[in-house]
Amino acid sequence: MSKRFPTVGIIGAGQLARMSIAPAEALGVNLLLLANDSNDSAAQITHHIVGDFRDLETVRAFAKKCDVITFEHELIPLSIIKALEADGVVVRPSSESFIFSQNKAAMRDRLSNFPAPSHQTVSNAEEIKSFPVIAKAISGGYDGRGVWKVENSAELEMILKEIGKVLVEELVDFDYEIAVMVARSPHGQATTWAPTQTVQRDGICTMTITPAPQLTSQMSEQAQKLALDIAHELGVVGVMAVEIFVKGENLYVNELAMRPHNSGHWTIEGSITSQFEQHLRAVLDLPLGNPAMTSEYAVMGNILGGDKEDMYRPYLHLMARTPALKFHHYKKEVRPGRKIGHVNLLGNNVVELVQEVQHALDYMSGEIDE
Ligand code: ADP
Repeated sequence: MSKRFPTVGIIGAGQLARMSIAPAEALGVNLLLLANDSNDSAAQITHHIVGDFRDLETVRAFAKKCDVITFEHELIPLSIIKALEADGVVVRPSSESFIFSQNKAAMRDRLSNFPAPSHQTVSNAEEIKSFPVIAKAISGGYDGRGVWKVENSAELEMILKEIGKVLVEELVDFDYEIAVMVARSPHGQATTWAPTQTVQRDGICTMTITPAPQLTSQMSEQAQKLALDIAHELGVVGVMAVEIFVKGENLYVNELAMRPHNSGHWTIEGSITSQFEQHLRAVLDLPLGNPAMTSEYAVMGNILGGDKEDMYRPYLHLMARTPALKFHHYKKEVRPGRKIGHVNLLGNNVVELVQEVQHALDYMSGEIDE
């Protein structure tokens, strides 16, 4: 067995790759990123190659420099992943699992034995008789883009004219949304973190609260089992977010992301092993780390770009006010609504934690100034 420390190649150089750098350094493993641009969030501070992930020869040349290839987004064409695999490159998760994070219709069909909203793939508006429903682009959507609440046949027809085919789902009148992060290694070792409640505004996650405060311990175990079962069923390697709707005593699988995910950002300080470290361990087939929480509650708030360009000065006030607040800035260009950083806060009083994090978000966005 080689004693050389391996190189993990990440396709993408955004904030998820950026947050993988510190644990990679600690573990002593090398990272190499395939970036779109040297100015990408993670490319600013670590080894990378600039190239187009849609170009097979570029990705092939990149893969030659790495021991294992993994992803920080779902945009790489499946045909490229398959070509790498045919070349003998180790790709984790493999094309056989990854497709279910790229294609929502394939995921719904494959997971038909798991609880989910009823659904069908539709190319003609007349196929749907009762409204409202949720229509989704089959691939390529994120942060609520590519998801529409559709009230009538005419609206559905307009969407179909635009994109040809959609996944139509039953509109679940859920009580709240949770996500369960799970990690699985090629050996089949798997761990989950405590389920997290995700708070969304306009389709964008603004805050997460862990453990999900309203979830009973029985349902929490059920949600973790669901995530572990899905990871096992799909042969996932690496970390995966399973987004779930909670309605009464019922859980409905919404979607899967096979990479570190926004709903796991709290793990950086909130867990003994962060999602970023666990992803590296999993794709390298190292034993997985302990996912236990480091405090009773962890609240994460996403900092979204507003009109303010200056994101540095507000730190001063917030650091003075709440010394326990932990900042993570992605060094991305500020654009309205874009996720440019997050804060984490740990403690025992969940109501206070939520208030403090909300204050930090409002202050950062300029909504309040004291
Ligand atoms: P993406 O993460 O790709 O933007 P999702 O499939 O997670 O898309 O949907 C975004 C949001 O739309 C969800 O977080 C949820 O609030 C809402 N949504 C999605 N599917 C349904 C559904 N079947 N019923 C009710 N709301 C839904």
